[in-house]
Amino acid sequence: MNSDLATLRPRLVGPFLMPGDPAYDATRLIWNGMIDRRPAAIARCLGVADVLACVHFARENGYPFSIRGGGHNISGLAVRDGALMIDLSLMRGVWVDPTTQTAHVQAGCLLGDVDREAQVHGLAPVLGFVSKTGVAGLTLGGGFGYLSRRFGWTSDTVLSMNAITAEGRLVRASEQENSDLFWGLRGGGGNFGIVTNFEYKLYPLGPEIIGGAIAWRGEDAPAVLELYRTLVAQAPPELTCVAGLRLAPPAPWLSPEVHGKPIVALFICHSGTVEEGEALVAPIKSFGAPVGDIVQRRSYASQQSLLDATQPNGRRYYWKSEYLPGVEPEMLQEAIRQAERIPSQHSAILLFPLDGAINRLPADHSPVGNRDARLVVNIASGWDSPADDAVNIEWARATWRSLRPFSTGGTYINFLTEEEGDERIRAAYGENYERLVDVKTKWDPDNLFRMNKNIAPTLG
Ligand SMILES: Cc1cc2nc3c(=O)[nH]c(=O)nc-3n(C[C@H](O)[C@H](O)[C@H](O)COP(=O)(O)OP(=O)(O)OC[C@H]3O[C@@H](n4cnc5c(N)ncnc54)[C@H](O)[C@@H]3O)c2cc1C
Repeated sequence: MNSDLATLRPRLVGPFLMPGDPAYDATRLIWNGMIDRRPAAIARCLGVADVLACVHFARENGYPFSIRGGGHNISGLAVRDGALMIDLSLMRGVWVDPTTQTAHVQAGCLLGDVDREAQVHGLAPVLGFVSKTGVAGLTLGGGFGYLSRRFGWTSDTVLSMNAITAEGRLVRASEQENSDLFWGLRGGGGNFGIVTNFEYKLYPLGPEIIGGAIAWRGEDAPAVLELYRTLVAQAPPELTCVAGLRLAPPAPWLSPEVHGKPIVALFICHSGTVEEGEALVAPIKSFGAPVGDIVQRRSYASQQSLLDATQPNGRRYYWKSEYLPGVEPEMLQEAIRQAERIPSQHSAILLFPLDGAINRLPADHSPVGNRDARLVVNIASGWDSPADDAVNIEWARATWRSLRPFSTGGTYINFLTEEEGDERIRAAYGENYERLVDVKTKWDPDNLFRMNKNIAPTLG
């Protein structure tokens, strides 16, 4: 064993994995199968003390490290060749206080962990669409989901965080304590420290809601997306509809005759009363001739895992995305045109509405900013064989180039791929970039935390 690493092992309570250990390979692999990196060791932290020991070790030895939350970042930022992986994924405690409607959440939690515990009390956090995603990366980059039209970015709903800083100190960050750090952490990613605990505001919701998915044939896309355009303009904040263009997977809810053929789908969640939800989705359900419809009364928990099966670990993925100022007919036509060339059954063009609470806060409320965005488009490419890398990556890039003219100019930091560097990071933070650099300079002047979408590239 590397002599430096040998000094870390006895300082940890959690498992310490080296190449050759039976669990090493399974733990180093992440969601994106394109990323195949070999860390020098993996510290599977069981608590704050383990994380502190790792940071102290890295500081003392100048040892490079990455931080793994849920391991879902498309760029593969959680793992680096030859570095120490500080793996938080065993730290999955959630403590809900129904009186204050808050949850304390350890940084290795997946979204589903928090939804599950919050729903025990009829509460919900504002998290994303796939239950296996990590809360940490999602929250630190902004975060949005079915509830964002009502309550804003996930990071807008964070009340406090505990973080281990570059000095190796555990500090609390909130509006009252270390408020500059708190500002930076609400969108600035892992640039300032390792967050060990998030305190989220929760909202009364469920357990039953109206939600699900409905799909039509690809040739109906112009009409369905025109319906979508009016829906997005008129929908109350409780109703969120995500639109998707893709080839139909062989899912039991879709008519077998469309499997493998183009479809247009809406993924719907109404988080208000079921009666209001039923009334609002009735015109959608009766529109045209759907080839599958599972929009119905369901548990909020089932809604939150509805898309999980479309995003298995280990598949090859590549994304491009932009924020959009609205749903323009020309943009929809272009998306339909590009969807006709989709090379893989696992790829999709997805339109996520963001309008509402996000737009009501000032741009500098937190670094995630982009409060002029009304939607985010994600060109989400997925495929199985390395032989198909080029064709799938090129489709995503070409589609992005054709949709980029409709962008606000901003992009979502959490959707950036590996090769998207400084220019795109600046685009993601816009006018908040310089202030972020100031916070970075104060809290991490030597750029200890650099395996992230780094906002101090000249220091790295
Ligand atoms: C299938 C899928 C669905 C998604 N859906 C949504 C969605 O609905 N809404 C949305 O907003 N985003 C969504 N995303 C994007 C998601 O927000 C990012 O991929 C995010 O980075 C995932 O966080 P993670 O903890 O799983 O990632 P990781 O890969 O573990 O980490 C990502 C980055 O965060 C840093 N980091 C992780 N934990 C910590 C910590 N505790 N302290 C400091 N830094 C840390 C890592 O170092 C790394 O730089 C989705 C991603 C996937 C793959």
